[in-house]
Amino acid sequence: MFKLPDLPYDFNALEPYIDEQTMRLHHGKHHQTYLDKLNSAIDGQADLEEKTIEELLKDLSSLSEDVRTPIRNNGGGHYNHSFFWQIMGPAQSGRPEGKIAEAIDSTFGDFKTFQEKFSEAAVGRFGSGWAWLVDYRGNLEITSTANQDSPISDGQRPILGLDVWEHAYYLKYQNRRPEYIENWWKVVNWSEAEKRLV
Ligand code: MN
Repeated sequence: MFKLPDLPYDFNALEPYIDEQTMRLHHGKHHQTYLDKLNSAIDGQADLEEKTIEELLKDLSSLSEDVRTPIRNNGGGHYNHSFFWQIMGPAQSGRPEGKIAEAIDSTFGDFKTFQEKFSEAAVGRFGSGWAWLVDYRGNLEITSTANQDSPISDGQRPILGLDVWEHAYYLKYQNRRPEYIENWWKVVNWSEAEKRLV
């Protein structure tokens, strides 16, 4: 059985950029619902229950058809949100430093260029989904996924991820996704992202 991870900070810790009520609903209701549906999809199937969430998502084609879609959607939802909580935090500098800053500069030219490209991917994701910075075969890339699809199902390792489902921002920002994205940069926990580099 998969369980809801605690947030590594208080529900109001990301104020004023991400409000407390959004965090409470997003974690306690949305993430919990993905978990409940994931658990019910694998309930009683020992071969699935013993796997980690990464193992379940890494090779979706190996799953039987009756569980593939629920695991893709709800397992992806569980994995993506667990990841998302970790790479945010209060009192952040707003800029990467050290190893991750060097990796970003060498791939994208400079931080500003990277930030613009990532924000573009997040603004441009039509409907619900995510923007990502991933490591794919040793290279950093910006991608986006629809729904709760996870980069790990495409052989990529996420370094940074941004939830652009309306539930992530609608209470505070309504339809202003670009403003949410602009403010999200202020809560990115770059030292957590750096741990996900090789
Ligand atoms: Mn979400």
